[in-house]
Amino acid sequence: MTDPKNVAQSSEALINQARAEIQGLRPYQPGKPIDELAREFGLNASDIVKLASNENPIGPSKKAIAAMEAEAREMTRYPDGNGFELKQTLCEKLSKNTVAVNPENITLGNGSSDILDFIVKCFVAKNDEVVFSQHAFAIYGLVTKIQGGECKVVPAKNYGHDLDAMAAAISEKTRLVFVTNPNNPTGTWLTQTEVAAFMAKVPSDVVVVLDEAYFEYVDEADYCNGLTLFAQYPNLVVTRTFSKAYGLASLRVGYGVSSQEVADLMNRVRPPFNVNSFALAAAVATLNDAEYVAESKAVNDAGMAYLTQSFDKLGLPYIPSVGNFISFEIPQAGDTAKNISAAEVDQKLLSVGVIVRPIANYEMPNHLRVSIGTQAENEIFIAALSKILADANS
Ligand SMILES: *Cc1c(COP(=O)(O)O)cnc(C)c1O
Repeated sequence: MTDPKNVAQSSEALINQARAEIQGLRPYQPGKPIDELAREFGLNASDIVKLASNENPIGPSKKAIAAMEAEAREMTRYPDGNGFELKQTLCEKLSKNTVAVNPENITLGNGSSDILDFIVKCFVAKNDEVVFSQHAFAIYGLVTKIQGGECKVVPAKNYGHDLDAMAAAISEKTRLVFVTNPNNPTGTWLTQTEVAAFMAKVPSDVVVVLDEAYFEYVDEADYCNGLTLFAQYPNLVVTRTFSKAYGLASLRVGYGVSSQEVADLMNRVRPPFNVNSFALAAAVATLNDAEYVAESKAVNDAGMAYLTQSFDKLGLPYIPSVGNFISFEIPQAGDTAKNISAAEVDQKLLSVGVIVRPIANYEMPNHLRVSIGTQAENEIFIAALSKILADANS
């Protein structure tokens, strides 16, 4: 018989063998899955409204489903490790008058998070610094720490990136800067002029990752399209994803656009078949379904207008957002204080089957982030939120 005490001791010894960088890490906290909430609160999964992970609420493109069904007959084969067809389609769609994107500029990822990971693996060694903003996407810190890099977090300005301060934070030890445009979870965005001025200040041997996960939702005329800059800056990597406006979050597919040199480096650390054949096929089909992306955008615009009007009526401040989500505040002080904390509002929403995202781990303990849903979902959320606030203040 094995003595359980010996087993416990040997597994502790084993855990101590893990790299020091990994021992202090916590896994990324995703939005609560629908089935998990259903089990916890005894709810029907079909009654639950999930507005926690910035997913596309309208369901996938029908063309994507058809492409995947066709692909199913080939599933004994490894996928195309170079993603030839997807790269061709991307080049065709992304290349506009002033911008030419070639297949050599593209790196495909198992989600764009994969690209963030590759770029850090390529450039960041132990004790190298990585600069990013306060309230920026949690993955940056995680991938940096796994490599043993140091995170240099620059205080935000009005919840957005302070690009001047970020440029000033670059030191001899800095290898990489993450810039999120628009930023998640704040929804703030940067103009062409701001990003171009920033790039001009960054030393040419420091890599800048411009994370444009929500690019397709942004209308602002002076919003920075990173593709207008990558040809000029070999140290720039623009990342985009099929997880949001393209409605393919579960398939995990995204990409980076960069100089051929940086793409070559990323391909050295990329696992050989990191994007599966279903994801490749669905991504091509959705790129060719302009109507689907237009509908995603229209549903988002209408939902954003409805939610901001509702927050105004409820007296809840929010951070204006150009993404498919918005962070709103449950005021804790002054005339508008709500007698209930954001964490309590979150719990009460969960108990009635509405999942939003607490963002205390983004240093925003009084805010909650809600993804824009369908009109029906948005109405369920606002009705539940109104009742919780009324109950707390009656
Ligand atoms: C959702 C998101 C991503 C994309 O994640 P995928 O791995 O492509 O699903 C990247 N960056 C930010 C800021 C995001 O919010």
